[in-house]
Amino acid sequence: MPAHSDSFDYVIIGAGSAGCVLANRLTEDPAVTVCLLEAGPSERSLFISMPAALTFPIESDIYNWKFESEPEPALHGRTIGQARGRCLGGSSSINGMVYVRGNPRDYDQWASLGVEGWSFQDCLPYFIKMESFEGGRDPLRGGTGPLSVTRSAARHPFYDAFLQAGEQFGLRNAGDYNSGDQEGVHVTQATIRDGVRCSTALAYLRPAMKRPNLTVRTGCLVEKIAFSGTRAEGVAYRRAGRAETARAGREVILSAGTIGSPHILMLSGVGEAAHLKDHGIPLVADLPGVGRNLQDHVVASLRFRSNGADAINRKLAGLGRVRLGLEWLLFKKGLGATSFFEVGAFFDGGSGTDYFNLQHEFLPFLADFQSGKVALGDGFQYFLSQMRPHSRGSIRLKSANPAAKPALSFNYFDDRRDMVEMIDGVRKTLEIASQSAWGKYCTGQLDDVRRTSTDAEIEAFIRNVANTEHHPVGTCRMGVDGDAVTDAAGRVHGLDGLRVVDGSILPKIPSANVNAPIIMAAEKIAGVIARRK
Ligand SMILES: Cc1cc2nc3c(=O)[nH]c(=O)nc-3n(C[C@H](O)[C@H](O)[C@H](O)COP(=O)(O)OP(=O)(O)OC[C@H]3O[C@@H](n4cnc5c(N)ncnc54)[C@H](O)[C@@H]3O)c2cc1C
Repeated sequence: MPAHSDSFDYVIIGAGSAGCVLANRLTEDPAVTVCLLEAGPSERSLFISMPAALTFPIESDIYNWKFESEPEPALHGRTIGQARGRCLGGSSSINGMVYVRGNPRDYDQWASLGVEGWSFQDCLPYFIKMESFEGGRDPLRGGTGPLSVTRSAARHPFYDAFLQAGEQFGLRNAGDYNSGDQEGVHVTQATIRDGVRCSTALAYLRPAMKRPNLTVRTGCLVEKIAFSGTRAEGVAYRRAGRAETARAGREVILSAGTIGSPHILMLSGVGEAAHLKDHGIPLVADLPGVGRNLQDHVVASLRFRSNGADAINRKLAGLGRVRLGLEWLLFKKGLGATSFFEVGAFFDGGSGTDYFNLQHEFLPFLADFQSGKVALGDGFQYFLSQMRPHSRGSIRLKSANPAAKPALSFNYFDDRRDMVEMIDGVRKTLEIASQSAWGKYCTGQLDDVRRTSTDAEIEAFIRNVANTEHHPVGTCRMGVDGDAVTDAAGRVHGLDGLRVVDGSILPKIPSANVNAPIIMAAEKIAGVIARRK
């Protein structure tokens, strides 16, 4: 017998982007009891709240699971570090705060794959419901939702140069890219409220924690879902070394993220039968799609030196850093209140794509954010990512021990079309950076790739530098075919009382940084659950 066990209507595993939304929406009904289990600690830390401090939680062993991929065959066997939030708010507590809904055609494609009820018109009411956009309510934007969305100030000459160079190259200025046409350059919108990171913990969970029908438990590593036959009845977890359980009268909701959710399903006997047998795990349901269909936005960073005029990084050194800290602590303003990702672009690359397929994110200094080890330098950086990859990766068990991390393989560039699109993207990035808007600042390139480089040379460069944009999705995808794991409401095929709601259910990665689409999906399914009662 476990040392401790109690009962709730719903037990939610994982207090991340999706889990916090569900905890809030389900407990709006005072008659419903919910227990939210999270492996990590509270998110209450200055380093999480202050947008400019974003590298601290990424570097931390406390707030980041720090997954590492298997050697990637197309990247000379390099392994890729994959950050995932491990605290209340999950990855929304450690992310870059860039807010993008994605393209209406992304969602229409989900619907055309047989995932009923997920066309853009179906999703739009939830995008509106979730946000408080500083531009206010209009037919396409929300004005009173829990998640605060603000326009970046973009008050630095490098941001102007980025926007102008894009326009000189031929891109339009998209204005509000979350309303209407996304393509072109834009000033970024961010999940920041009054200078503070607006994670889903701040937006959804903290207000709900005042309700007596919500129990939140941190420091609880979920080990498996307990079944009676094919019905999920509860959750077994470990807290401070002790085995405990929480029983779910209505449903267990798995919101442990794109890596955590398939991992927990497999540990619980839900997955490909032969794979589970290899690890000695008794089978509950043979669902071969669990852990397959992993998609991510691959990113290549292109770095340019600047002459130091107006260098923002110099304001971030020495006394400048002290000033930044004080200004933020006292007024929640200044450079501490930005993630520095204040401008971006969506544009077209390669051939044969029916709408834009590439993204630029931008930093007005040189920094290596992917590794979390930040050394700032004079310059600027374009991050090029591919929006709708064809390659697919996987999450597989390495061991039946719940404390052991699973094997993560992205298989970037497994499909040749992805490389073709990225090569074209690198060419276009070099063209854009050579526009006269940059003339005053740019003094050369750091990377070994030029406008005169051959395709083979650009490909070699990409293989050397490609990394993750930290957007993995799709490993428990919704759908109706044999590899689908859940139905269109997140219910796991063939089982009762079990739903998956997080990034893992997205059938195809949207043309967006994925936090907003995941929160939308959680809002939408929370609505389905509430109506069924
Ligand atoms: C460094 C970084 C930068 C990013 N930047 C952006 C950005 O700028 N804009 C954007 O839109 N997106 C960004 N993303 C992506 C986005 O934030 C995530 O995709 C999204 O937050 C994932 O939501 P989720 O609910 O699927 O999972 P998560 O938010 O990761 O939540 C899963 C939760 O489950 C918990 N959990 C997992 N396993 C267990 C277990 N066994 N027991 C108990 N609890 C468990 C985890 O600790 C976590 O709290 C970024 C992500 C990262 C990591």
